[in-house]
Amino acid sequence: MAVLNRLLRARGSDFSSIINRGFSTSSTLNSEINLRAASSLSHKSLPLGRIPKDRNVQWVFLGCPGVGKGTYAGRLSRLLGVPHISTGDLVREELSSKGPLASQLAEIVNHGKLVSDEIIIKLLSKRLEAGETKGESGFILDGFPRTIRQAEILEGVTDIDLVVNLKLREEALLAKCLGRRICSECGGNYNVACIDIKGENGSPGMYMAPLPPPPHCESKLITRSDDTEEVVKERFRVYNEMSRPVEEFYRSREKLLEFDLPGGIPESWTKLLQALNLYDHEGKKSAAA
Ligand SMILES: [Zn+2]
Repeated sequence: MAVLNRLLRARGSDFSSIINRGFSTSSTLNSEINLRAASSLSHKSLPLGRIPKDRNVQWVFLGCPGVGKGTYAGRLSRLLGVPHISTGDLVREELSSKGPLASQLAEIVNHGKLVSDEIIIKLLSKRLEAGETKGESGFILDGFPRTIRQAEILEGVTDIDLVVNLKLREEALLAKCLGRRICSECGGNYNVACIDIKGENGSPGMYMAPLPPPPHCESKLITRSDDTEEVVKERFRVYNEMSRPVEEFYRSREKLLEFDLPGGIPESWTKLLQALNLYDHEGKKSAAA
């Protein structure tokens, strides 16, 4: 498996589950990475030792809409060889299927309502069971749990090792959401925002490059009707209000890793791997992809 070769130098004892699965490790490299991680991180050490020996990681990604959690969760899932399970995708898949929940879901979504905990749990259980029969081990959940109740239910059915809370300064997040453009012809997603915040009073600056469309899409770009400043800010407010108790739930269990995105993908990806004590040999390559 390519992922086995490409991966991962993790802290030996803490990540014994991964190493047991065939990842190589060397004590020299481990100490190097420990040093580097220790010098670049301000948060306290992670409860990574809780990862059991007999399975892969079971992680959760939290973060405001637009922060890019799908991107980072997707990359990590490929790196670790675990499925990236997004509840948004599960809902979309069920909607486009003839599954038993499809018509019920269509009714909810068409009225702009939130899908209930029960339905989300059903979809997620179905997905996890299907994965298990295919021999999948571990997962990275994206967009779940969204409420305390979901977190409690999840805790009842499986162990979560780590919850990564991705955060981006609100001014950058707002600019990023307002810069989103979709090609009306091919459906491609682009971003015209060039975020360049100067560092001041000791706080670091931040640069995030735009994601410009190719020339043939340029004249066909449209903005989603709900990407206005007012709607985006309301989305942040609702998210923050709803997510705070979920963050607290995991913080009190010492499972929460707060991660402030330092900028665009290449920079953030490297730092995120450091924070997780992971190492990607093809980091440069995958960051540029
Ligand atoms: Zn296009």
